[in-house]
Amino acid sequence: MSADYVIPAPPQATIAVAGTTKVFPVRRIWCVGRNYIEHIREMGQDERLPPFYFAKPADTIVPDGGTVPYPSLTKDMHHEVELVVALKSGGRNIPVEKANDCIYGYAVGIDLTRRDLQIASRDLKRPWEIGKAFDHSAPCGPIKPASESGHPKKGKITLKCNGTLRQDGDLEQLIWNVPEIIANLSEMVALEPGDIIMTGTPAGVAATVAGDKLECEVEGIGKLTVTIGPALK
Ligand code: MN
Repeated sequence: MSADYVIPAPPQATIAVAGTTKVFPVRRIWCVGRNYIEHIREMGQDERLPPFYFAKPADTIVPDGGTVPYPSLTKDMHHEVELVVALKSGGRNIPVEKANDCIYGYAVGIDLTRRDLQIASRDLKRPWEIGKAFDHSAPCGPIKPASESGHPKKGKITLKCNGTLRQDGDLEQLIWNVPEIIANLSEMVALEPGDIIMTGTPAGVAATVAGDKLECEVEGIGKLTVTIGPALK
């Protein structure tokens, strides 16, 4: 029996599945805060600290080919290209050796960040949502099922801005690999089907402005192109 909602239920956020007309329903977006050593160094952070997590709402997803309106309040929006992991099952306290069994597939995404607001929040010891979880902050390309891609342990992860290479890393540089992230995060929350995880960005984060074309790729997984549009009125 469907619920008797007092307002229309919000639409289900989805991500396309590569090579099909099917879509993956998104429940939550978890993000890893620090997971590549060169990015920790460029941000001036302690590289001995373990990574940590923050989240974005599911409806911050922007599809491949989409446009991201330049967000309000910032003068320093940064791109962070990341490997995205999409879960088909979950649970609590998932062992590392069972973690890959939870994965539906992989994609390439961007953790868009209002860096000035994130750093202001960090310095005031306030939460990060205003810097990280704003509207349209999670562009994500089509998901490639793990049944086709396998579980990548290495492969180039890149972002070009207007044709110029800005981020150029390799998945083998991940400090915590994907099974370790799933296992660790499942100690903190019960993971569920539909949860996706953005696994952290390699070095080269930089500002992006209205008119920029961002082209991302994870070798063997897929591509993502988005355009930064003018600010909403
Ligand atoms: Mn990130």
